[in-house]
Amino acid sequence: MDFIPVNRPLLNGNELNYVQECIKSGWISSEGDFVNRFEINCARKFGRKYAVAVSSGSAAIDIAIESLNLEPGDEIILPSFSIISCIAQILRNGLKPVFIDCCRESFNILINDIEQKITNKTRAILVVHTYGLAVDMFLVQEIAKKYQLYLIEDAAEAHGQTCHGIPVGSFGDISIFSFYANKHITTGEGGMLLTNNNEIFERSKSLKNLCFETERRFKHFELGWNYRMTNIQAALGLAQIEKLNEITLSKRKIAEKYNYLLKDCKGITLPLRKNKCSENIYWVYPLVIKDNLEINADQIIKILEKKGIGSRPFFYPLHQQPVLNKYNLNKQIKLPNSEYISEKGFYIPSGLGITDDEIKKVADVIRSLF
Ligand SMILES: *Cc1c(COP(=O)(O)O)cnc(C)c1O
Repeated sequence: MDFIPVNRPLLNGNELNYVQECIKSGWISSEGDFVNRFEINCARKFGRKYAVAVSSGSAAIDIAIESLNLEPGDEIILPSFSIISCIAQILRNGLKPVFIDCCRESFNILINDIEQKITNKTRAILVVHTYGLAVDMFLVQEIAKKYQLYLIEDAAEAHGQTCHGIPVGSFGDISIFSFYANKHITTGEGGMLLTNNNEIFERSKSLKNLCFETERRFKHFELGWNYRMTNIQAALGLAQIEKLNEITLSKRKIAEKYNYLLKDCKGITLPLRKNKCSENIYWVYPLVIKDNLEINADQIIKILEKKGIGSRPFFYPLHQQPVLNKYNLNKQIKLPNSEYISEKGFYIPSGLGITDDEIKKVADVIRSLF
C-alpha cells in the first residue's frame, strides 16, 4: 500500500469553479473581489464585525500583537504548549511572554493558573484552542475583564468549534485563524484576523499592507508587512467556508472510527471526546504514550514511517525553545504537563482525504505497537 500521509486535504466543492472564475477575471492579486467576499463570509460565520484576510495564521498573530501598541517589558500570558508563531512578535517587540502549563488530557491552557501570573506589567492574554477542544472562553473573558487585559484568541485549529454553543473566533478583542493545508478550512497558505474593534481593524488592514498611506502612496509614517492574501487563495477559502459544517462532521467521523478501533489500546491515551464547553472537532488525532512505557514519540514516529504511515510529534514547549536564549529570557521554569506531552505525544493521519482502509491500516499498526 502507498504511504499514508499525516494529512491529505479534500477540495471537492466549489474550489475549482471559484479559482477558475478568479483566473478568468484576471484579478489574481489581493485586489480581487474574492478577498472581500471571503472576509465578509468569515465575519458573518464567526459572529464578528470585521475580518482581515492575511497570508498566514502566523501573520495574523504578528499583526494582532503589533496592533495592541504595547511597550517593551509589557507581559503577555500564553500557553507554553503551542506553536512558535504565538511568541514571534512578542519577542521581536521586546515584550515578555509569561508561560502557563496545559492540561494533559485536553492540551489546553490551565485557566486556573492564569491569575497568579498576572502582574502590573501584564497587558494581554493569548489563548489557543489546541488540537480540537475549545478553551472555556467564558472563564478567560472573566479574568481579562477583571484585570482589564486584552484577549487574543488563537483559533487556528478550531474552525467550526464552539464554546458553550458560541462559535470560537468570536471571543476576545482579536481572534485569528490559519488556513494552512492541514487546517479544517484551507487556502494552502492563509490566515484571518477577526475583531469588533474598529481601531484594531483599521490598524490591522494598514499593517498587512506595508502601512501605505492614502495621502501620498509610497510615503510611510510606519512600517508594516506585505501579509496580503491573494485572490486565488480567497477563492479557495470561499468555497471551503461554504462546507464548514460538513467538514466538522467528517473530521468527527474519522476520529470516531479511530476511537472505536483503538479503544482497547493499553499503552496510549486517546483524545477526549468532550470537555465542559465543547465537543472535540479533532483538528488532529492526538495520542499520548502512557508514563509506564519507556518509549517516546520520536521513536514511534520512526517506526510508523518505516511502516508507511506519516505522523507528527506534538508541539515543543515554548518555555524551552532555544531561541529564547537570544532574548535573555529565563528558561528555568518547569511546566511538567507541557514537557511530558511534547515528549510522549504524536498524531496520526486524519486529514479529510483519508479513506476507511487507510484508517484501518493505521489503527492496526498502532494496536500492534500498544
Ligand atoms: C497552524 C497554527 C498557527 C500558524 O498558522 P500558519 O498559517 O501555519 O502560519 C498558529 N497557531 C496555531 C495554534 C496553529 O495551529
